[in-house]
Amino acid sequence: MSQAFEAVKQQEADLLCRSYSRYPLAIVRGKGARLWDVDGREYVDLLAGIAVAGLGHCHEEVCAALEAQSRKLWHVSNLFYQQEQLDLARLLLSTSHHGKAFFCNSGAEANEAAIKLARRYMRKIKGRDACEIITLNECFHGRTFGALAATGRESLSDGFTPLPEGFRQVPAEDLAALEAAISPLTAAVMLEAVQGEGGVKPLSIDYLRGVEALCRQKDILLICDEVQAGLGRTGKFWAFQHADIRPDIISVAKALANGLPMGAILATDEAGRGFEAGSHATTFGGGALASAVAAKCVEILLRDRLPQRAAEVGARFKDQALALQKRLPDAVSEVRGLGLMLGIELAGDGKAVWEDLLRHGFICNLSHGRTLRLLPPLTIEEADLTAFLQVLEEILRKQ
Ligand SMILES: *Cc1c(COP(=O)(O)O)cnc(C)c1O
Repeated sequence: MSQAFEAVKQQEADLLCRSYSRYPLAIVRGKGARLWDVDGREYVDLLAGIAVAGLGHCHEEVCAALEAQSRKLWHVSNLFYQQEQLDLARLLLSTSHHGKAFFCNSGAEANEAAIKLARRYMRKIKGRDACEIITLNECFHGRTFGALAATGRESLSDGFTPLPEGFRQVPAEDLAALEAAISPLTAAVMLEAVQGEGGVKPLSIDYLRGVEALCRQKDILLICDEVQAGLGRTGKFWAFQHADIRPDIISVAKALANGLPMGAILATDEAGRGFEAGSHATTFGGGALASAVAAKCVEILLRDRLPQRAAEVGARFKDQALALQKRLPDAVSEVRGLGLMLGIELAGDGKAVWEDLLRHGFICNLSHGRTLRLLPPLTIEEADLTAFLQVLEEILRKQ
């Protein structure tokens, strides 16, 4: 490791809480799907800040929107009307069947808002004392207390109990288990159409449709967490749209403002009735600066048909990765994912492969020790993806 890197690493150890294990990289600059570290080394970024920089780093038009808004208005709070919020809401709502938006600042916060809306809708609109949220094994919904309880993974809540009550979990792809878990106490089912942190696992279309049918039959709400899979990542604007279902509430964050903290929920007009003035709020949510940047991002996603591009580029990449699996069946055990949300599961320990990729200038994420998780900018050049697979093949052949 270089001196420049060691200097940054030492400051981190001195100054910050020990809450992250980090990659051995200190990044100073980004452009498109490229990153540069403190030593000037260039990397192909196949992670995009964990599905955040969907348009790539420092996108010219997004920078221009940020600069222009930064000289006009940053923040006045939700005590005031602000056109920037409305322009963003109109754009977002044009992409789905939802009629109402609520803005916040992160994925966990979006899920908290979704959970609160579901509970309050049941109590105040349906007149039912239903508070329970059912989630799926291997889900991830965030790290705040409600979202942590929804996530239900003991390794993440170690030392933090007690968690809020009113959450239960069932195995994915098992409709009978879900049906058995639904009771008069159930307010909603919450799921990711493609489980992200769980290792890039798309739920089957039949299962998603079955869950929707159960929710309708039992008159409970369906919440889709689109924080990672949404905004074009999977090849549709929203991941739930692959199954043609109509969730009552969706949560959104990561790519919404391409790197500025920004989150939202979208609700049907009916579910949206669960909130009234004063029931939920956040100081920063939907501030003018973040809203103007997010609106530009959504405008570009729609104008440049980036969901469609993700579908096409992702499908070609998946074909190439499957061909690689055929050539090296002992090294690659599975290729899965949708659009540009992809996982390549290795048969052996992935750590050495991941490190070798990094040495060759390719940044991706290693999930569960053996799945290479790829979440590149939706604008990435196909040549970068092809080069990644070539290098991966060389590395796997040398093992
Ligand atoms: C990242 C993520 C979250 C949490 O988002 P934060 O912005 O980190 O709070 C929630 N749900 C899913 C599916 C995610 O991928």
